[in-house]
Amino acid sequence: QAEIASRSIIRALCRPFYVQGNSMYIGATIGFASAPNDTCDAETLFRYADLALYSAKDEKRGICRSFEANMDAAAQAKIRLEIDFRKALHCGQLHIHYQPLVSLQTGEIECYEALLRWFDPVRGYVTPDTFVPLAEEMGLIDAVGRMVLQSACKEAKNWPKHVKLSVNVSPLQFRNGNLISTVVNALNAAELPPERLELEITEAVLMEKGQRPATIIDNLRGLGIGLSLDDFGTGYSSLSYLLNYPFTKIKIDKSFIRNIEHEAKSRAVIRAVIGLGRSLGLTVTAEGIESQSVADYLRN
Ligand code: MG
Ligand code: MG
Repeated sequence: QAEIASRSIIRALCRPFYVQGNSMYIGATIGFASAPNDTCDAETLFRYADLALYSAKDEKRGICRSFEANMDAAAQAKIRLEIDFRKALHCGQLHIHYQPLVSLQTGEIECYEALLRWFDPVRGYVTPDTFVPLAEEMGLIDAVGRMVLQSACKEAKNWPKHVKLSVNVSPLQFRNGNLISTVVNALNAAELPPERLELEITEAVLMEKGQRPATIIDNLRGLGIGLSLDDFGTGYSSLSYLLNYPFTKIKIDKSFIRNIEHEAKSRAVIRAVIGLGRSLGLTVTAEGIESQSVADYLRN
């Protein structure tokens, strides 16, 4: 019955409404829970209905969903994950792994990309695909970003002078306004010259409205810091980004590299990006090389 009622509400609300000669569109998404099936506690019932609503909205607007027990389990699991992540951040359980970037001309390591890893005693390795969005949602991404920059710069100070450090930056770090001071402080504290640092950003940073990201990028570049366009080839990969921002490096997304041996189309994309990089005077990096044959192909 609740489902039938929900559907008719949704239908009724998705018709256009006429207000002062304009047609206006609204809509509804509905989640519901029922007693006594789901619970007999009123407060829990409302919470369950909310969970059903979130689940419906996640899936598609304009639909209805009834509560299912696994929605509560998923919500509880997320809360536990949040608590554990906060603990991990404050107790130093997040570690940085350093992925080498090797010159295909000389075979020498030129740079290391700092990659944050979370090893949880119970869950094992939690992937960044899970904890980075979580940190963003929890408002912790600035603290996480600061920690990574500080530790990685300190580490990089011990490397040979020609080896650079590359650090990934989240679009949210551009929004909050203290990215430049975070970077400068980390460099100063480690006594690392700005020329040895590269920041990797994705186009999501550039899609933000307004001048803000451009100003920050120009300032960072002005300090001598390198700028990589990460995961290139996925998303919109608008070429105007390469013209309008002072990038120093393009990183071809690993999905193209992974298919290099079986897919002529991936090879064509890679050739095109290398040509583009060369014409624009940018370094081109391929992500995720795992075999000698792929390295050889790319070198050629
Ligand atoms: Mg990266
Ligand atoms: Mg990448």
